[in-house]
This record gives sequence, C-alpha cells and structure tokens, in this order.
Amino acid sequence: MDLPRIERAVRDILIAIGEDPDREGLRKTPNRIARSYAERMAGLRIDPRAYLRTVFKEGYNQVVLLRNIPFHSMCEHHLLPITGHAHVAYLPDGKVLGLSKIARLVDAYALRPQIQERLTDQIADALMDGLQPLGAVCVVEAAHDCMTIRGIKKTGSMMVTSAIRGIFQTDPASRSEVLALIYGTARLT
Ligand SMILES: [Zn+2]
Repeated sequence: MDLPRIERAVRDILIAIGEDPDREGLRKTPNRIARSYAERMAGLRIDPRAYLRTVFKEGYNQVVLLRNIPFHSMCEHHLLPITGHAHVAYLPDGKVLGLSKIARLVDAYALRPQIQERLTDQIADALMDGLQPLGAVCVVEAAHDCMTIRGIKKTGSMMVTSAIRGIFQTDPASRSEVLALIYGTARLT
C-alpha cells in the first residue's frame, strides 16, 4: 500500500476544505489516516481462500454455526465505516474448518472497500468453494455510517443481508433449522 500517496491525498483534502494542514493539530493527521487505511484495507492483500486450505476430516454431520462475529468494513460509495456482526453456518460433508478461520474469512472480505450485499455473498461462496459443505449460510447485520451521520441520518437502522447456499436453499426444513439457530428460539443473546 502506497502510504505516502495517501498522506499527500489527505493533505490535499485538508487544503481543499479550507484547513491549514501544517497547524499543530493536523500536522500528523495525513500520516495517521494513511496508517489507519492500511489497517482497514488489509483484506486487499489477503487471499481469503487461503484460510480454507486447512480442513479437518470429521464425521460431525450437524450444523456448525459461528454467531456474532464482529467486523468493520468500509462502504465503497462513501468510504465510511460499516460496523456489524456476521453469522456464518455450514452443514459439513465430512470436513470441518477451524472456527478462527471463519472469523478470519469474514475479516479478509470486510477489510476492503465493500458493499454489504457483496460481503455476504463472498463469505458464503468462499465457504462453498473451499470447504464443499452440503450448505452454507451467511447473515450480516450492520450499521452504515453513510446512513447515520450523513444523508438521510437514520441512526440505529440496521441492514440485514443473507446468502443461503446448497441444502439450506433447497430444503426448507434445513433452512428453518439454521435460521432458528441464528435468530430464533435457539438464540441465547
Ligand atoms: Zn455508503
């Protein structure tokens, strides 16, 4: 990532809004923003599918769900934060994945300019391709700063998206079961 270039761009923004980028409080701002962009865009330099290379053979044949995975992303239309939780489930077909790998998969796709719909699809599709489970579900619930601090200013509104693949798409009973785990009576919090 070209940090000096980000610094120059931020300095230009400060000048464009009529600020003095050389005044005490702003002098280090371009550098701080460049470093924070490097962190918040780190997913661009990761191949998320690498996290799916280590799988374990396992006879467990019920739903595996990792719920409430916190993530931060950045809306590609306004470069403002998207903050929320992902819930990721799959039905194994002889192979399972380390739970931390699911969380890393979420981060890898979140830490880049994104829209929530694509983030949701990418996580579910990566699981289907990399792990070949019988089915996968990704539900994402998130607040978009571009909706809460600017424009329509609807603080507290949450966007919910879901990507449903494989058996969860074709079999209503399996879908009900996994959605109950994510949302319903089976949910503890
Ligand atoms: Zn936006």
